[in-house]
Amino acid sequence: MRQEDRKETEIQIEYIKKAAALLSEKETEAGRKLRACVVTFGCQMNARDSEKLIGILEQVGYEITEDENADFVLYNTCTVRENANLKVYGRLGVLNGYKKKNPGMKIALCGCMMQEPQVVEKLRTSYRFVDLIFGTHNLYKFPELLVSVLSQEGTIIDIWDKTDRIVEDLPVKRKYSYKSGLNIMFGCDNFCTYCIVPYVRGRERSREPEDILAEAKSLAQDGCKELMLLGQNVNSYGKNLENAPSFAQLLEMVCNVEGIERVRFMTSHPKDLSDELIQVMKRNPKICRHLHLPLQSGSTEILRRMNRRYTKEQYLELALKIRREIPDLSITTDIIVGFPGETESDIEDTLDVIRQVRFDNAFTFIYSKRSGTPAASYEDQVSEEFISAQFDRVLKLVQETAREQAGKYEGLTMDALIEEVNESDPTLVTGRLSNNCLVHLPGDASLIGSIIPVFLRECKGFYYLGERK
Ligand code: SF4
Repeated sequence: MRQEDRKETEIQIEYIKKAAALLSEKETEAGRKLRACVVTFGCQMNARDSEKLIGILEQVGYEITEDENADFVLYNTCTVRENANLKVYGRLGVLNGYKKKNPGMKIALCGCMMQEPQVVEKLRTSYRFVDLIFGTHNLYKFPELLVSVLSQEGTIIDIWDKTDRIVEDLPVKRKYSYKSGLNIMFGCDNFCTYCIVPYVRGRERSREPEDILAEAKSLAQDGCKELMLLGQNVNSYGKNLENAPSFAQLLEMVCNVEGIERVRFMTSHPKDLSDELIQVMKRNPKICRHLHLPLQSGSTEILRRMNRRYTKEQYLELALKIRREIPDLSITTDIIVGFPGETESDIEDTLDVIRQVRFDNAFTFIYSKRSGTPAASYEDQVSEEFISAQFDRVLKLVQETAREQAGKYEGLTMDALIEEVNESDPTLVTGRLSNNCLVHLPGDASLIGSIIPVFLRECKGFYYLGERK
Protein backbone atom coordinates (compact mmCIF):
# COMPACT_ATOMS: atom_id res chain seq x y z
CA MET A 1 0.00 0.00 0.00
CA ARG A 2 1.33 3.45 -0.86
CA GLN A 3 2.17 5.79 2.06
CA GLU A 4 -0.36 8.42 1.02
CA ASP A 5 -3.10 5.77 0.77
CA ARG A 6 -2.26 4.44 4.24
CA LYS A 7 -2.42 8.02 5.57
CA GLU A 8 -5.84 8.46 3.97
CA THR A 9 -7.11 5.34 5.76
CA GLU A 10 -6.08 6.86 9.11
CA ILE A 11 -7.80 10.14 8.22
CA GLN A 12 -11.06 8.37 7.32
CA ILE A 13 -10.95 6.30 10.50
CA GLU A 14 -10.84 9.60 12.43
CA TYR A 15 -13.89 10.80 10.48
CA ILE A 16 -15.73 7.61 11.48
CA LYS A 17 -15.20 8.59 15.12
CA LYS A 18 -16.50 12.14 14.44
CA ALA A 19 -19.56 10.76 12.64
CA ALA A 20 -20.20 8.37 15.53
CA ALA A 21 -20.23 11.31 17.96
CA LEU A 22 -22.67 13.24 15.74
CA LEU A 23 -24.91 10.20 15.41
CA SER A 24 -25.12 9.57 19.15
CA GLU A 25 -26.23 13.21 19.62
CA LYS A 26 -28.96 12.64 17.03
CA GLU A 27 -30.00 9.40 18.74
CA THR A 28 -30.29 11.21 22.07
CA GLU A 29 -32.49 13.86 20.39
CA ALA A 30 -34.61 11.18 18.68
CA GLY A 31 -34.77 9.05 21.79
CA ARG A 32 -34.16 5.91 19.75
CA LYS A 33 -31.57 3.92 17.77
CA LEU A 34 -31.17 5.27 14.23
CA ARG A 35 -31.21 2.83 11.32
CA ALA A 36 -29.40 2.79 7.98
CA CYS A 37 -30.14 0.92 4.75
CA VAL A 38 -27.85 0.40 1.74
CA VAL A 39 -29.43 -0.73 -1.54
CA THR A 40 -27.13 -2.19 -4.19
CA PHE A 41 -27.81 -2.04 -7.92
CA GLY A 42 -25.69 -3.76 -10.59
CA CYS A 43 -22.62 -5.98 -10.51
CA GLN A 44 -20.46 -7.83 -8.01
CA MET A 45 -18.04 -4.88 -7.90
CA ASN A 46 -20.92 -2.77 -6.57
CA ALA A 47 -21.93 -5.52 -4.13
CA ARG A 48 -18.38 -5.51 -2.73
CA ASP A 49 -18.38 -1.69 -2.49
CA SER A 50 -21.70 -1.85 -0.60
CA GLU A 51 -20.14 -4.18 1.98
CA LYS A 52 -17.62 -1.38 2.66
CA LEU A 53 -20.35 1.30 2.87
CA ILE A 54 -22.38 -0.87 5.29
CA GLY A 55 -19.23 -1.58 7.32
CA ILE A 56 -18.65 2.18 7.73
CA LEU A 57 -22.30 2.93 8.66
CA GLU A 58 -22.28 0.11 11.22
CA GLN A 59 -18.97 1.35 12.68
CA VAL A 60 -20.49 4.83 13.00
CA GLY A 61 -23.25 3.24 15.05
CA TYR A 62 -26.25 2.87 12.76
CA GLU A 63 -28.37 -0.26 13.09
CA ILE A 64 -28.30 -1.80 9.63
CA THR A 65 -31.67 -2.69 8.09
CA GLU A 66 -33.03 -3.79 4.71
CA ASP A 67 -36.06 -1.55 5.24
CA GLU A 68 -35.78 1.62 3.10
CA ASN A 69 -38.02 3.49 5.55
CA ALA A 70 -34.88 4.20 7.60
CA ASP A 71 -32.98 7.25 8.93
CA PHE A 72 -30.16 6.97 6.41
CA VAL A 73 -30.71 5.39 2.99
CA LEU A 74 -27.87 4.98 0.49
CA TYR A 75 -28.40 3.78 -3.08
CA ASN A 76 -25.23 2.34 -4.62
CA THR A 77 -26.22 2.75 -8.26
CA CYS A 78 -25.45 1.12 -11.62
CA THR A 79 -25.67 2.70 -15.07
CA VAL A 80 -24.69 -0.12 -17.41
CA ARG A 81 -28.16 0.00 -19.03
CA GLU A 82 -30.72 2.80 -19.30
CA ASN A 83 -33.36 0.98 -17.24
CA ALA A 84 -31.00 0.94 -14.25
CA ASN A 85 -31.21 4.74 -14.14
CA LEU A 86 -35.00 4.77 -14.52
CA LYS A 87 -35.33 2.35 -11.61
CA VAL A 88 -33.44 4.74 -9.30
CA TYR A 89 -35.49 7.80 -10.26
CA GLY A 90 -38.67 5.80 -9.62
CA ARG A 91 -37.60 4.67 -6.18
CA LEU A 92 -36.41 8.15 -5.11
CA GLY A 93 -40.02 9.28 -5.13
CA VAL A 94 -40.88 6.64 -2.51
CA LEU A 95 -37.93 7.71 -0.36
CA ASN A 96 -39.12 11.30 -0.50
CA GLY A 97 -42.45 10.09 0.86
CA TYR A 98 -40.69 8.53 3.86
CA LYS A 99 -38.65 11.70 4.37
CA LYS A 100 -41.78 13.84 4.54
CA LYS A 101 -42.81 11.73 7.57
CA ASN A 102 -39.25 11.60 9.02
CA PRO A 103 -37.63 15.00 8.26
CA GLY A 104 -34.33 13.96 9.89
CA MET A 105 -33.95 11.18 7.30
CA LYS A 106 -30.87 11.43 5.06
CA ILE A 107 -30.92 10.19 1.43
CA ALA A 108 -27.63 9.50 -0.33
CA LEU A 109 -26.65 8.28 -3.80
CA CYS A 110 -23.32 6.91 -5.03
CA GLY A 111 -21.98 4.50 -7.64
CA CYS A 112 -21.61 4.53 -11.42
CA MET A 113 -24.80 6.46 -12.27
CA MET A 114 -23.48 9.44 -10.28
CA GLN A 115 -20.47 9.71 -12.59
CA GLU A 116 -22.77 10.91 -15.40
CA PRO A 117 -22.87 14.74 -15.36
CA GLN A 118 -26.38 14.93 -16.83
CA VAL A 119 -27.66 12.67 -14.03
CA VAL A 120 -26.13 14.84 -11.30
CA GLU A 121 -27.60 17.98 -12.89
CA LYS A 122 -31.07 16.35 -13.01
CA LEU A 123 -30.78 15.32 -9.33
CA ARG A 124 -29.51 18.75 -8.29
CA THR A 125 -32.44 20.54 -9.93
CA SER A 126 -35.34 18.06 -9.62
CA TYR A 127 -34.51 15.94 -6.54
CA ARG A 128 -33.52 18.57 -4.00
CA PHE A 129 -34.52 16.23 -1.14
CA VAL A 130 -31.40 14.14 -1.83
CA ASP A 131 -28.77 15.02 0.81
CA LEU A 132 -25.58 13.47 -0.56
CA ILE A 133 -24.28 12.56 -4.02
CA PHE A 134 -20.83 11.04 -4.51
CA GLY A 135 -19.21 8.81 -7.11
CA THR A 136 -17.05 5.78 -7.69
CA HIS A 137 -13.65 7.48 -7.34
CA ASN A 138 -14.13 8.86 -3.82
CA LEU A 139 -16.05 6.02 -2.23
CA TYR A 140 -13.35 5.80 0.47
CA LYS A 141 -14.20 9.36 1.49
CA PHE A 142 -17.65 8.23 2.69
CA PRO A 143 -16.78 8.72 6.41
CA GLU A 144 -15.76 12.33 5.73
CA LEU A 145 -18.89 12.96 3.63
CA LEU A 146 -21.01 11.38 6.39
CA VAL A 147 -19.70 13.95 8.89
CA SER A 148 -20.67 16.74 6.47
CA VAL A 149 -24.16 15.36 5.79
CA LEU A 150 -24.84 14.76 9.52
CA SER A 151 -23.76 18.28 10.44
CA GLN A 152 -25.41 20.39 7.75
CA GLU A 153 -28.59 20.74 5.63
CA GLY A 154 -28.79 20.95 1.83
CA THR A 155 -27.45 18.71 -0.93
CA ILE A 156 -23.73 17.84 -0.82
CA ILE A 157 -22.32 16.87 -4.24
CA ASP A 158 -18.76 15.46 -4.45
CA ILE A 159 -17.97 13.81 -7.78
CA TRP A 160 -14.42 13.25 -9.05
CA ASP A 161 -13.40 12.74 -12.68
CA LYS A 162 -10.67 10.32 -11.77
CA THR A 163 -8.40 9.00 -9.04
CA ASP A 164 -5.21 6.95 -8.67
CA ARG A 165 -5.97 6.17 -5.03
CA ILE A 166 -6.61 2.69 -3.65
CA VAL A 167 -7.49 3.21 0.01
CA GLU A 168 -7.63 -0.01 1.96
CA ASP A 169 -8.54 -1.32 5.40
CA LEU A 170 -11.77 0.60 5.96
CA PRO A 171 -14.51 -1.31 7.85
CA VAL A 172 -16.36 -3.96 5.83
CA LYS A 173 -19.58 -5.81 6.63
CA ARG A 174 -19.67 -8.95 4.50
CA LYS A 175 -23.00 -10.37 3.33
CA TYR A 176 -21.80 -13.99 3.56
CA SER A 177 -19.57 -15.52 6.24
CA TYR A 178 -18.24 -18.31 4.03
CA LYS A 179 -17.50 -16.47 0.76
CA SER A 180 -16.41 -13.02 -0.34
CA GLY A 181 -15.63 -10.86 -3.32
CA LEU A 182 -12.01 -9.62 -3.38
CA ASN A 183 -11.15 -6.66 -5.59
CA ILE A 184 -7.84 -7.14 -7.43
CA MET A 185 -8.19 -4.06 -9.63
CA PHE A 186 -10.47 -1.14 -10.47
CA GLY A 187 -11.48 0.59 -13.70
CA CYS A 188 -11.12 -0.47 -17.35
CA ASP A 189 -8.97 0.68 -20.30
CA ASN A 190 -10.76 -1.28 -23.04
CA PHE A 191 -13.34 1.28 -24.18
CA CYS A 192 -15.74 -1.13 -25.85
CA THR A 193 -17.88 1.28 -27.87
CA TYR A 194 -21.19 0.34 -26.18
CA CYS A 195 -19.87 0.43 -22.61
CA ILE A 196 -20.08 3.24 -20.07
CA VAL A 197 -17.82 1.55 -17.47
CA PRO A 198 -14.50 3.17 -18.49
CA TYR A 199 -16.18 6.60 -18.19
CA VAL A 200 -17.63 5.94 -14.72
CA ARG A 201 -15.03 3.62 -13.17
CA GLY A 202 -11.91 5.30 -14.60
CA ARG A 203 -8.57 3.90 -15.74
CA GLU A 204 -7.30 0.49 -14.75
CA ARG A 205 -5.37 0.40 -11.48
CA SER A 206 -4.34 -2.87 -9.90
CA ARG A 207 -3.91 -3.46 -6.18
CA GLU A 208 -0.47 -4.49 -4.92
CA PRO A 209 -0.25 -8.32 -4.72
CA GLU A 210 0.77 -8.18 -1.05
CA ASP A 211 -2.37 -6.15 -0.24
CA ILE A 212 -4.55 -8.68 -2.07
CA LEU A 213 -2.89 -11.59 -0.25
CA ALA A 214 -3.16 -9.81 3.10
CA GLU A 215 -6.91 -9.37 2.54
CA ALA A 216 -7.26 -13.01 1.38
CA LYS A 217 -5.50 -14.18 4.56
CA SER A 218 -7.72 -12.06 6.82
CA LEU A 219 -10.84 -13.29 4.99
CA ALA A 220 -9.67 -16.90 5.42
CA GLN A 221 -9.02 -16.32 9.13
CA ASP A 222 -12.52 -14.88 9.29
CA GLY A 223 -14.00 -18.13 8.03
CA CYS A 224 -14.13 -17.52 4.26
CA LYS A 225 -13.72 -20.68 2.19
CA GLU A 226 -14.43 -19.24 -1.26
CA LEU A 227 -13.12 -16.05 -2.85
CA MET A 228 -14.27 -14.30 -6.05
CA LEU A 229 -11.43 -12.22 -7.52
CA LEU A 230 -13.06 -9.12 -9.00
CA GLY A 231 -12.04 -6.78 -11.82
CA GLN A 232 -13.60 -5.45 -15.01
CA ASN A 233 -10.85 -7.30 -16.92
CA VAL A 234 -8.87 -9.50 -14.51
CA ASN A 235 -6.64 -10.79 -17.31
CA SER A 236 -4.86 -7.42 -17.53
CA TYR A 237 -4.03 -7.44 -13.84
CA GLY A 238 -0.81 -5.65 -12.86
CA LYS A 239 -0.31 -3.44 -15.93
CA ASN A 240 0.20 -0.32 -13.76
CA LEU A 241 2.49 -2.09 -11.26
CA GLU A 242 6.21 -2.82 -11.41
CA ASN A 243 7.31 -6.47 -11.30
CA ALA A 244 3.74 -7.59 -10.72
CA PRO A 245 2.82 -11.27 -11.01
CA SER A 246 0.64 -12.18 -13.96
CA PHE A 247 -3.03 -12.80 -13.23
CA ALA A 248 -2.41 -16.57 -13.46
CA GLN A 249 0.41 -16.32 -10.90
CA LEU A 250 -1.69 -14.13 -8.59
CA LEU A 251 -4.53 -16.66 -8.82
CA GLU A 252 -2.20 -19.47 -7.65
CA MET A 253 -0.88 -17.27 -4.82
CA VAL A 254 -4.44 -16.73 -3.57
CA CYS A 255 -5.14 -20.47 -3.87
CA ASN A 256 -2.18 -21.12 -1.59
CA VAL A 257 -3.67 -19.04 1.23
CA GLU A 258 -4.42 -21.41 4.09
CA GLY A 259 -8.17 -21.95 4.63
CA ILE A 260 -9.17 -20.90 1.12
CA GLU A 261 -10.70 -23.95 -0.60
CA ARG A 262 -12.21 -22.44 -3.76
CA VAL A 263 -11.31 -19.44 -5.93
CA ARG A 264 -13.42 -17.88 -8.68
CA PHE A 265 -12.73 -14.81 -10.81
CA MET A 266 -14.71 -12.32 -12.92
CA THR A 267 -14.60 -10.81 -15.55
CA SER A 268 -12.23 -12.10 -18.26
CA HIS A 269 -11.57 -10.48 -21.63
CA PRO A 270 -10.91 -12.93 -24.52
CA LYS A 271 -8.16 -10.76 -26.00
CA ASP A 272 -6.04 -11.04 -22.81
CA LEU A 273 -6.75 -14.60 -21.62
CA SER A 274 -3.39 -16.39 -21.62
CA ASP A 275 -2.30 -19.99 -22.17
CA GLU A 276 -0.60 -19.66 -18.79
CA LEU A 277 -4.02 -19.08 -17.17
CA ILE A 278 -5.53 -22.09 -18.97
CA GLN A 279 -2.72 -24.34 -17.67
CA VAL A 280 -3.00 -22.95 -14.12
CA MET A 281 -6.80 -23.54 -14.15
CA LYS A 282 -6.24 -27.06 -15.51
CA ARG A 283 -3.79 -28.17 -12.80
CA ASN A 284 -5.12 -26.35 -9.71
CA PRO A 285 -8.27 -28.04 -8.27
CA LYS A 286 -8.94 -25.06 -6.00
CA ILE A 287 -9.77 -22.90 -9.04
CA CYS A 288 -13.47 -23.37 -9.68
CA ARG A 289 -14.50 -25.12 -12.85
CA HIS A 290 -16.26 -22.07 -14.24
CA LEU A 291 -15.09 -19.38 -16.65
CA HIS A 292 -17.19 -16.37 -17.67
CA LEU A 293 -15.90 -15.31 -21.11
CA PRO A 294 -18.02 -12.55 -22.69
CA LEU A 295 -18.44 -12.96 -26.47
CA GLN A 296 -20.87 -10.04 -27.02
CA SER A 297 -21.21 -10.88 -30.75
CA GLY A 298 -20.12 -13.71 -33.09
CA SER A 299 -19.69 -11.36 -36.04
CA THR A 300 -16.14 -10.12 -36.70
CA GLU A 301 -17.49 -6.90 -38.25
CA ILE A 302 -19.69 -6.15 -35.20
CA LEU A 303 -16.80 -7.05 -32.86
CA ARG A 304 -14.65 -4.53 -34.76
CA ARG A 305 -17.32 -1.85 -34.32
CA MET A 306 -17.61 -2.77 -30.63
CA ASN A 307 -13.81 -2.33 -30.31
CA ARG A 308 -13.56 -5.79 -28.72
CA ARG A 309 -10.24 -6.47 -30.46
CA TYR A 310 -10.76 -10.11 -31.30
CA THR A 311 -12.42 -11.80 -34.26
CA LYS A 312 -14.99 -14.62 -34.44
CA GLU A 313 -12.21 -17.05 -35.34
CA GLN A 314 -9.96 -15.92 -32.47
CA TYR A 315 -12.79 -16.30 -29.94
CA LEU A 316 -13.66 -19.75 -31.29
CA GLU A 317 -10.03 -20.87 -31.25
CA LEU A 318 -9.67 -19.75 -27.61
CA ALA A 319 -12.97 -21.20 -26.35
CA LEU A 320 -12.48 -24.55 -28.14
CA LYS A 321 -8.91 -24.77 -26.85
CA ILE A 322 -10.22 -24.25 -23.30
CA ARG A 323 -12.89 -26.91 -23.92
CA ARG A 324 -10.15 -29.36 -25.01
CA GLU A 325 -7.74 -28.53 -22.18
CA ILE A 326 -10.34 -28.47 -19.36
CA PRO A 327 -13.32 -30.63 -20.45
CA ASP A 328 -15.14 -30.34 -17.10
CA LEU A 329 -15.09 -26.52 -17.17
CA SER A 330 -18.41 -24.67 -17.56
CA ILE A 331 -18.13 -21.70 -19.91
CA THR A 332 -20.69 -18.91 -19.67
CA THR A 333 -20.86 -15.72 -21.68
CA ASP A 334 -22.53 -12.35 -22.38
CA ILE A 335 -24.20 -11.62 -25.72
CA ILE A 336 -25.59 -8.30 -26.94
CA VAL A 337 -28.35 -8.35 -29.58
CA GLY A 338 -29.24 -5.22 -31.53
CA PHE A 339 -25.87 -3.45 -31.72
CA PRO A 340 -25.99 -0.65 -34.34
CA GLY A 341 -25.60 -1.96 -37.87
CA GLU A 342 -26.28 -5.58 -36.87
CA THR A 343 -27.75 -7.71 -39.69
CA GLU A 344 -29.27 -11.16 -39.88
CA SER A 345 -25.96 -12.54 -41.17
CA ASP A 346 -24.22 -11.11 -38.06
CA ILE A 347 -26.77 -12.96 -35.94
CA GLU A 348 -26.03 -16.14 -37.94
CA ASP A 349 -22.38 -15.74 -36.90
CA THR A 350 -23.42 -15.39 -33.25
CA LEU A 351 -25.63 -18.49 -33.50
CA ASP A 352 -22.72 -20.35 -35.13
CA VAL A 353 -20.41 -19.56 -32.21
CA ILE A 354 -23.07 -20.69 -29.71
CA ARG A 355 -23.49 -23.98 -31.63
CA GLN A 356 -19.73 -24.61 -31.65
CA VAL A 357 -18.86 -23.57 -28.06
CA ARG A 358 -22.17 -24.89 -26.59
CA PHE A 359 -22.14 -22.44 -23.65
CA ASP A 360 -23.23 -23.73 -20.24
CA ASN A 361 -25.21 -20.52 -19.93
CA ALA A 362 -25.34 -17.03 -21.38
CA PHE A 363 -26.60 -13.63 -20.27
CA THR A 364 -28.27 -12.19 -23.35
CA PHE A 365 -28.88 -8.45 -23.43
CA ILE A 366 -30.65 -6.11 -25.79
CA TYR A 367 -28.28 -3.31 -26.81
CA SER A 368 -28.84 -0.27 -24.54
CA LYS A 369 -27.78 3.11 -25.92
CA ARG A 370 -25.62 4.81 -23.27
CA SER A 371 -25.08 8.52 -23.83
CA GLY A 372 -21.41 9.36 -23.82
CA THR A 373 -20.39 6.07 -25.48
CA PRO A 374 -19.26 6.07 -29.16
CA ALA A 375 -21.91 3.54 -30.27
CA ALA A 376 -24.68 5.83 -29.01
CA SER A 377 -23.97 8.22 -31.89
CA TYR A 378 -23.76 5.50 -34.57
CA GLU A 379 -26.41 6.28 -37.21
CA ASP A 380 -27.41 2.74 -38.09
CA GLN A 381 -29.37 1.93 -34.90
CA VAL A 382 -31.43 -1.19 -35.57
CA SER A 383 -35.24 -1.54 -35.35
CA GLU A 384 -37.10 -2.99 -32.38
CA GLU A 385 -38.75 -5.58 -34.66
CA PHE A 386 -35.35 -6.85 -35.77
CA ILE A 387 -34.11 -6.92 -32.18
CA SER A 388 -37.03 -8.85 -30.70
CA ALA A 389 -37.03 -11.43 -33.53
CA GLN A 390 -33.30 -12.04 -33.33
CA PHE A 391 -33.20 -11.92 -29.54
CA ASP A 392 -35.66 -14.82 -29.34
CA ARG A 393 -33.56 -16.89 -31.77
CA VAL A 394 -30.39 -16.32 -29.74
CA LEU A 395 -32.11 -16.98 -26.42
CA LYS A 396 -33.71 -20.20 -27.69
CA LEU A 397 -30.39 -21.62 -28.86
CA VAL A 398 -28.57 -20.57 -25.70
CA GLN A 399 -31.17 -22.33 -23.55
CA GLU A 400 -30.88 -25.43 -25.70
CA THR A 401 -27.09 -25.73 -25.31
CA ALA A 402 -27.31 -24.84 -21.59
CA ARG A 403 -29.87 -27.60 -20.91
CA GLU A 404 -27.74 -30.09 -22.82
CA GLN A 405 -24.57 -29.09 -20.92
CA ALA A 406 -26.30 -29.18 -17.52
CA GLY A 407 -27.54 -32.73 -18.05
CA LYS A 408 -24.02 -34.17 -18.39
CA TYR A 409 -23.34 -34.12 -14.62
CA GLU A 410 -26.46 -36.10 -13.66
CA GLY A 411 -25.59 -39.20 -11.61
CA LEU A 412 -22.20 -37.83 -10.56
CA THR A 413 -21.09 -36.89 -7.05
CA MET A 414 -19.60 -33.39 -6.83
CA ASP A 415 -18.60 -31.04 -4.00
CA ALA A 416 -21.06 -28.26 -3.21
CA LEU A 417 -20.61 -25.19 -1.01
CA ILE A 418 -23.88 -24.99 0.95
CA GLU A 419 -25.04 -21.36 0.71
CA GLU A 420 -28.54 -21.11 2.25
CA VAL A 421 -31.73 -22.81 3.34
CA ASN A 422 -33.94 -23.16 0.26
CA GLU A 423 -36.39 -20.24 0.08
CA SER A 424 -39.36 -22.22 -1.18
CA ASP A 425 -38.75 -25.48 0.76
CA PRO A 426 -37.13 -25.11 4.23
CA THR A 427 -36.41 -28.86 4.41
CA LEU A 428 -33.88 -28.30 1.61
CA VAL A 429 -30.62 -26.38 1.44
CA THR A 430 -29.08 -24.85 -1.71
CA GLY A 431 -25.48 -25.47 -2.64
CA ARG A 432 -23.23 -24.23 -5.43
CA LEU A 433 -21.05 -26.63 -7.40
CA SER A 434 -17.58 -25.67 -8.57
CA ASN A 435 -19.00 -25.21 -12.10
CA ASN A 436 -21.43 -22.62 -10.64
CA CYS A 437 -24.55 -24.81 -11.01
CA LEU A 438 -26.98 -24.92 -8.07
CA VAL A 439 -28.14 -28.11 -6.31
CA HIS A 440 -30.99 -28.46 -3.80
CA LEU A 441 -30.70 -31.27 -1.24
CA PRO A 442 -32.20 -32.25 2.11
CA GLY A 443 -30.48 -30.46 4.96
CA ASP A 444 -30.64 -27.62 7.49
CA ALA A 445 -28.89 -24.32 8.31
CA SER A 446 -26.07 -26.12 10.15
CA LEU A 447 -24.66 -27.09 6.75
CA ILE A 448 -24.32 -23.47 5.54
CA GLY A 449 -20.69 -22.63 4.75
CA SER A 450 -19.53 -26.24 4.50
CA ILE A 451 -18.28 -27.89 1.31
CA ILE A 452 -19.76 -31.42 1.10
CA PRO A 453 -19.97 -34.18 -1.54
CA VAL A 454 -23.44 -34.30 -3.13
CA PHE A 455 -24.90 -37.00 -5.39
CA LEU A 456 -26.60 -35.22 -8.33
CA ARG A 457 -29.72 -37.38 -8.61
CA GLU A 458 -31.68 -35.37 -11.18
CA CYS A 459 -31.02 -32.44 -13.51
CA LYS A 460 -33.89 -29.94 -13.66
CA GLY A 461 -32.68 -27.85 -16.59
CA PHE A 462 -30.53 -25.23 -14.83
CA TYR A 463 -30.23 -26.82 -11.38
CA TYR A 464 -30.03 -30.26 -9.72
CA LEU A 465 -31.82 -32.19 -7.06
CA GLY A 466 -29.42 -34.23 -4.98
CA GLU A 467 -28.58 -35.83 -1.67
CA ARG A 468 -25.63 -35.72 0.62
CA LYS A 469 -23.14 -38.47 -0.17
S1 SF4 B 1 -14.03 -4.72 -21.04
FE1 SF4 B 1 -15.40 -3.54 -22.33
S2 SF4 B 1 -17.44 -4.23 -21.65
FE2 SF4 B 1 -16.01 -4.79 -20.05
S3 SF4 B 1 -16.05 -3.11 -18.60
FE3 SF4 B 1 -14.35 -2.74 -20.02
S4 SF4 B 1 -15.19 -1.43 -21.62
FE4 SF4 B 1 -16.91 -2.38 -20.51
